[in-house]
Amino acid sequence: MAKKESKPELPALPELPILRRRPAFARALGAWYGRGHRDLPWRRTPDPYRIWVSEIMLQQTRVETVIPYYQRFLERFRDVATLATAELDEVLKLWEGLGYYARARNLHRAAGILVTDHGGLMPRDLAAVNGLPGVGRSTAGSILCFAHGQRHPVLDANVKRVLLRLYAVAADKGRPPVDRWLWRAAEILVEDAPDPADHNQALMELGATVCGSGAPTCGDCPVRRWCQAHRQGRQHQIPLPRPKRATPHYTIGVGVIHNDIGDVLVQKRPADGLLGGLWEFPGGKREGREKLTETVRREIAEELGIEVSVGTKITTLEHAYTHFRITLHAYHCTHLGGTPKPRAADAWQWLPVAQLSDLAFPRANQRILELLNASDRGSSPGTYDP
Ligand code: SF4
Repeated sequence: MAKKESKPELPALPELPILRRRPAFARALGAWYGRGHRDLPWRRTPDPYRIWVSEIMLQQTRVETVIPYYQRFLERFRDVATLATAELDEVLKLWEGLGYYARARNLHRAAGILVTDHGGLMPRDLAAVNGLPGVGRSTAGSILCFAHGQRHPVLDANVKRVLLRLYAVAADKGRPPVDRWLWRAAEILVEDAPDPADHNQALMELGATVCGSGAPTCGDCPVRRWCQAHRQGRQHQIPLPRPKRATPHYTIGVGVIHNDIGDVLVQKRPADGLLGGLWEFPGGKREGREKLTETVRREIAEELGIEVSVGTKITTLEHAYTHFRITLHAYHCTHLGGTPKPRAADAWQWLPVAQLSDLAFPRANQRILELLNASDRGSSPGTYDP
């Protein structure tokens, strides 16, 4: 009989009040933060709208990547009302390249709720903020703590790592008992902090700069005398890496379909799925060992109900999503007949290549678009050699 796979045993979680009633810890952390930290645009404002936008953009995304997006977004959508009345297409266009597009869709939807139910203002109640689309407990706590000084814990990936090391908990961050423990630890620490906003910022800053996911630089750490992992010399082993899962790989064929006046056909992905609301060149997964040109022809016939001839290859590119990888092959195609009747798209249109840049595309499709634009053959099919 096959042996049942068992999860690694969870280490005993330490009693939480280790650092409780230790104001020296809070003072050391606060003094370190006060001596200098990164000057980030969202740290210069108490405006809950701006803090909210930054917190959503920072989910799964690096600070340096976020800054230009944040600035462009706020230049265009200066307040909740402006965001709520914008077209989702425009919001997605400004989000293009940042990834995790559900964040943009939720931000737009939540802005509508704030206008309808809260007079365009962010509520001051944790449960109400937490109830907005795309806003989890940590994001809600951040908004209320940084905007109004409310005493809520913040638990982003950096803070989780710091807490696990401070208490020498050799566990991965993804397991529910560890998560519950982390929340309790973060609550206890923020209870003792003289200034909850500075305290939360300081813990995030520590995790981002000193106690990083690579090798922590404990020699620069303001709280190393309280750190159990450092004391035990185990800071490099904590947290445990998440167990690796095999990442599925798919081979995709897509077509840049040209009509007889040189326009190109694009379709819009369904609003609520992966990459929802973004535009793309039609195509799909290869079946078995079929020829890639056949994949493109078949997928276009099945998805759109039109006939095309598949011509020269434009490019092949690799792309990784969170849970799978793709190798995408893009081909020029010529429209032979039929009016598009998409089965799995919200909209479609024929457009000159020069106008495609007005739409929001997923990253893999942006590369195809760059090649189309760079080729200077916007209205006629041709061969590209990237
Ligand atoms: Fe992180 Fe080292 Fe500081 Fe501990 S002493 S919190 S491991 S940087």
